Amino acid sequence: MNWSRDELDLLEAAAQALQSGFRDLPETADSADLSRWGEVLQRAATMLQDNDPYFHPLYCGQMLKPPHPVARMAYALAMLMNPNNHALDGGRASSAMEREATAKLAAMFGWSSAADESLPFLGHLCGGGTLANFEALWVARELTGGKTIVASQQAHYTHGRLSGVLQNSFEAIAVDSRGRMDLAVLEDRLRRGDVGTVVATLGTTALGAVDPLPEIVALKQRFRFRLHVDAAYGGYFTLADNLRPETRAAFDVICAADSIVIDPHKHGLQPYGCGCVLFRDPSVARLYLHDSPYTYYTSDELHLGEISLECSREGASAVALWATLQLLPLERGGEFTQGLEAGRTAALALFQWLQQSDCFVPLLEPELDIVVWGVRAASASESSQQARALFHQARQHQVYLALATTPRSLAETKGIVTHWDQDSIICLRSVLMKPEHREWMPEIITRLQRATDEIG
Ligand SMILES: *Cc1c(COP(=O)(O)O)cnc(C)c1O
Repeated sequence: MNWSRDELDLLEAAAQALQSGFRDLPETADSADLSRWGEVLQRAATMLQDNDPYFHPLYCGQMLKPPHPVARMAYALAMLMNPNNHALDGGRASSAMEREATAKLAAMFGWSSAADESLPFLGHLCGGGTLANFEALWVARELTGGKTIVASQQAHYTHGRLSGVLQNSFEAIAVDSRGRMDLAVLEDRLRRGDVGTVVATLGTTALGAVDPLPEIVALKQRFRFRLHVDAAYGGYFTLADNLRPETRAAFDVICAADSIVIDPHKHGLQPYGCGCVLFRDPSVARLYLHDSPYTYYTSDELHLGEISLECSREGASAVALWATLQLLPLERGGEFTQGLEAGRTAALALFQWLQQSDCFVPLLEPELDIVVWGVRAASASESSQQARALFHQARQHQVYLALATTPRSLAETKGIVTHWDQDSIICLRSVLMKPEHREWMPEIITRLQRATDEIG
């Protein structure tokens, strides 16, 4: 983890190129007390040491992926301007970059973008997946008259909470033994009526499960509801060629959704502050209609603030995403996609090792790049306690894992424990989202084995 000399040189050259566009302005005086800046930065560096090494392949716990160096540099470059993508007044160039980048994300899901002027979809970047889902659920509420929103029990916890903020009723649909929305339960619920919106998750946050989208799309023909796809974590996997056929089939019908959420700051190699919401029907823009007495003056063209709930919003995110997409286009078989596929290969390798182990039981065969597993023990409480112990012991060997509380209903049939003395079990969880994880898996496994032997 470093700004290499070469990277700093590239950044300086880019900064000079940017500056040359403003050469005609009169000079301003620069007075800087660099020694004090240095002191403060040293203290910030010391504070930042109190982090796990998210950038290193031995970090394979939470959903944290280092941004691409080009994304980091483009973001830093944009910081010289600090554009605001609320309005063209504050970020003309970065708004154009946002529209281009958003169109590429939409095209990845099959919502093609012919000309920039009349996009056949509506979309924009925003702070993250939560806000992106909030906008999608808000639009759903407006269009369905507040009919019930349903999502699976394994959907992101914010759906229930956001529905509450919107004062819209929300219900959770049970999941099957693989953590996917249970179709029979969903159909039953739809038959009872008053469901306005179904949220399908393609890649749940805890398990990486992919809801059965083709069947949900078929139900949409019969029961007319809005279909929102939460692909905040899993969306980019639509490019991957090493998915199971069922998973592939789900991604192949994503374009049948009314709205889609994807988080470039999860798998898209972006710094935080980069989510994206897409609507298939561009006319939902009318719901966002508002007047801003201060902005929207420099141009009659669309200002992104006219189609976003947020007002001020960092243009730097758009610059970073745009630059990354220039370097790594969203192509099947391309360099970016190979990175996703490598993470999934790493997940399958870990899964196979767990399957052969005497101590562990994988909860599911990974659908994407998340692996969750339990520790064999007599009871659920003992197993949970050992999972915690291994979580800590693995850190002694610099392997950083995560933990996930899993409901008994999902874990019961897997043979992790014989006696259920509680309603849930704590499992170990690993998100293998760095391309390097494939090469590092043997090392990760060796260290995990050592840690396992030590806790007995
Ligand atoms: C991460 C995640 C979210 C929330 O996104 P943030 O960017 O963390 O706000 C929503 N849904 C799913 C499926 C996620 O994985």
